[in-house]
Amino acid sequence: MNAAKRHEIFSRLRAANPHPTTELEYTTPFELLVAVVLSAQATDKGVNLATRRLFPVAHTPEAIVALGEAGLADYIKTIGLYKSKARHLIAACQMLVELHGSQVPAERAALEALPGVGRKTANVILNTAFGQPTMAVDTHIFRVANRTGLAPGKTVLEVEKKLLKTIPAEFRIDAHHWLILHGRYVCQARKPKCGECIIADLCEFKGKLVAPAPLRARRG
Ligand code: SF4
Repeated sequence: MNAAKRHEIFSRLRAANPHPTTELEYTTPFELLVAVVLSAQATDKGVNLATRRLFPVAHTPEAIVALGEAGLADYIKTIGLYKSKARHLIAACQMLVELHGSQVPAERAALEALPGVGRKTANVILNTAFGQPTMAVDTHIFRVANRTGLAPGKTVLEVEKKLLKTIPAEFRIDAHHWLILHGRYVCQARKPKCGECIIADLCEFKGKLVAPAPLRARRG
């Protein structure tokens, strides 16, 4: 894909949603960290339902540690893999208290050293809590990047690196959210909504499901 097309894609995504953000509910970097760890293989909606109960009771590392593994599990048991997530979060909170003054570190290495925090989670925290131009490639971004031709790649890391290299600087902070939301609501896995897609004419996906021209004209 050429640079002009790439620029136009992000210009349109920005025009449609100038201030994109995560759909996870949080008020502090720590709450975001908890929510992102819980969101692995779970929906943001499901995580929000659980954290709406959890955060009023415990929204600091000390308070989560005080709940204990069983106590925390009780709040998050509607979420997949909740037992291992509770174990990881308690261990991560202990590390935050002991090593980071109960604050979420803004460095990749320190984040990835926390139990339950991998590269993708660290990227989300660095981007969304600390405003760094990282690219957390999840299933949606991986699909959109490959389909559209924005950043084709066989692995998540390849796509991440290509996106970071090719997205114009002015879009880099928010690109992660635009691509996730586009994948979640428009360029869906089984049935992409190409007829409603604002970048359909720029997308290089050979399997695009674009309505025939006369129909588009009638709609427009
Ligand atoms: S045109 Fe279709 S395949 Fe291309 S980005 Fe839009 S929804 Fe996805």
